[in-house]
Amino acid sequence: MAVLEILKYPHPVLKKRCEPVEHVDEAIRKLVQDMRETMYRANGIGLAACQVGVSCRVLVMDVGAVDPAQKFFALINPEIVAEEGEIDYEEGCLSVPDCNEKIRRWEKIRVRGISLDGEAVELAGEGILAIALQHEIDHLNGILILDRISRLKREIYRKRLKKEREKGERD
Ligand SMILES: [Zn+2]
Repeated sequence: MAVLEILKYPHPVLKKRCEPVEHVDEAIRKLVQDMRETMYRANGIGLAACQVGVSCRVLVMDVGAVDPAQKFFALINPEIVAEEGEIDYEEGCLSVPDCNEKIRRWEKIRVRGISLDGEAVELAGEGILAIALQHEIDHLNGILILDRISRLKREIYRKRLKKEREKGERD
């Protein structure tokens, strides 16, 4: 197992739509193990493969720290098949440091995908599980929380990032 580097905005891989996984093979299982390790090391509750530079539709999640009824799982080629209600929740992202913004999401969703055993699975999520799933599925579609906030807030974040970079270069 290995801890991988988490790509940060504005890395171009984060803007790309990820490709579906054709076969759940040893390479995918290894990727999931590494993503799991990387997510835990970064104290994250979810991670999409593109965040570690692999542009395929794989996510890992463990929202157990927020909702103790939940535990770790990986999902391949996830797809939202039903949604209901609305909820505003302050989200952060390992790829968008120092950005915590309220985002509107579906309150409850049903998601279809493939398990690590290659089996078709369907799961229902609400609360933090539903929010985190939507966040990671957004990643697989090349969408960041920055794309879901106002243009003004996005510009403020970009300017702040630019300033920090310039400061970093001077130091
Ligand atoms: Zn994220």
